[in-house]
Amino acid sequence: MSLPDTALEAAAEAIAGADALLVAAGAGMGVDSGLPDFRGPEGFWRAYPALGRAGIDFYSAASPATFRRDPAMAWGFYGHRLALYRATVPHAGFGLLGDWGRRMRAGWAVFTSNVDGHFQQSGAAPAALLECHGSIHHLQCLDDCHGAVWPADGFVPEVDAAQCRLLNAPPRCPHCGALARPNILMFGDGGWNAQREEAQAAQLQDWLAGLRRTRARLVVVEIGAGLAVPSVRHFVQGLQRTLGARLVRINPREAGVSGAHDVGLPAPALPALQAMAKRMPGPLR
Ligand SMILES: [Zn+2]
Repeated sequence: MSLPDTALEAAAEAIAGADALLVAAGAGMGVDSGLPDFRGPEGFWRAYPALGRAGIDFYSAASPATFRRDPAMAWGFYGHRLALYRATVPHAGFGLLGDWGRRMRAGWAVFTSNVDGHFQQSGAAPAALLECHGSIHHLQCLDDCHGAVWPADGFVPEVDAAQCRLLNAPPRCPHCGALARPNILMFGDGGWNAQREEAQAAQLQDWLAGLRRTRARLVVVEIGAGLAVPSVRHFVQGLQRTLGARLVRINPREAGVSGAHDVGLPAPALPALQAMAKRMPGPLR
């Protein structure tokens, strides 16, 4: 992969000249750690061939209706992902972002649509972290009977990956005994418990308010956030509007930027971050 020197230097300069860093991550962030990309039915069915044979796409597998209709299959899918995300080591780009963030006068924060918990797992400790689609490492009642969200730590899924079915007992709601589900915003999901996400959002808004008060210069590094699921891009556009944030957009297919001071790097996450790191001025290297 070769990125133009001018773009890499502009990206490094944008980081070096900022007081605060916000990392905005989409599905592309996890690909370099070895996580599957669910873009398009081909990508999804390559990762879950049993679902391909049954003609079940991502939108249908990731739905509360599937937990009601076929819990062993729904938990076959999510249990496999839970085990995979637990076992996968986040790539070195997470560490680079943390290094840059810690050197910012006004600190750093993360907005991610990924449910893999990999920013936490990488040891990053940003001032705020918003998982806008929830976390696979947390559970809730399928009926959301008591409004509770609890860690999935005690649940170790045993999955027949070839059949995409859970072999052991699925987790249960401690209040009513109903099936528990991941605390993730699914498709067609009227029953998602958003309390954890809302608490994270409040913390992130406090951090952003602090930047506004102190007139801190914010740089946003947006990584692997496509146009198909626009949550991350919407959030970034809001920061550009309200805080005049400067944007570095890393995306192998959709790296276009419109602002005169924004930088697009058409590359996957890890090589782009490593190439930026090589251009950083001394204190940030
Ligand atoms: Zn319950």
